[in-house]
Amino acid sequence: MKKEFVVIGLGRFGGSICKTLIEQGMEVLVMDRDEARIDEFASIATHAVIADSTDETVLKSLGIRNFDHVIVAIGADIQASILTTLMLKEIGVKRVTVKAQNDYHAKVLRKIGADNVVHPERDMGKRIAHNIVSKSILDYIELSEKYSIVEIAANYHLAGHSILDLNIRAKYGITIVAIRRGSNIIVSPQAGDVIEREDVLIVIGAVEDINRFEKDLL
Ligand code: ADP
Repeated sequence: MKKEFVVIGLGRFGGSICKTLIEQGMEVLVMDRDEARIDEFASIATHAVIADSTDETVLKSLGIRNFDHVIVAIGADIQASILTTLMLKEIGVKRVTVKAQNDYHAKVLRKIGADNVVHPERDMGKRIAHNIVSKSILDYIELSEKYSIVEIAANYHLAGHSILDLNIRAKYGITIVAIRRGSNIIVSPQAGDVIEREDVLIVIGAVEDINRFEKDLL
């Protein structure tokens, strides 16, 4: 079933969200107060509206309440981002995802009812930094302040050993939840499974335990 989304703010982040949703076959209404941005997306998006999202009458006249999910991708104008989020939740939009500029902004957004607050620059910075520090770390996703998931290239460090041999859970307290081998995913691998050189391990655990494991892989 096609879902209907609204993307407010067509900077790099909002623009990228809009294009990807369209590629996935979704219906997307885009809104920006800048006419040039709307011109750029008019031929891509399902509907494109030049409007200021802090104007409640505009939001209501678009019937924004009926959309499945609204993404507030307003960049530097934190006040506009907060006001827009507040009105969307007051109008009764079920799912609102908002891009936060910093931790204070994020805190306010959560307080006023944003369903999902994202920090794309901060998160991408962390992911890239982990990859720079260790070439074995392919990706790093923070689940919460305490827990993360990492993708680790098996290469010469781990290849040839079984999961039992490596004893990762006992040594570091972290768990291999899956192994990506070519186009296959081995979910919940068994203790006897032997790691191959091209494998990618998907590991979950406490941040400090994962950090210890990362250091040992250097
Ligand atoms: P990014 O860092 O993702 O590139 P920008 O700050 O460049 O973000 O872009 C944010 C977009 O949001 C701009 O196109 C801007 O015109 C739009 N925008 C900002 N405030 C509002 C608002 N109140 N209503 C509609 N669009 C807005």
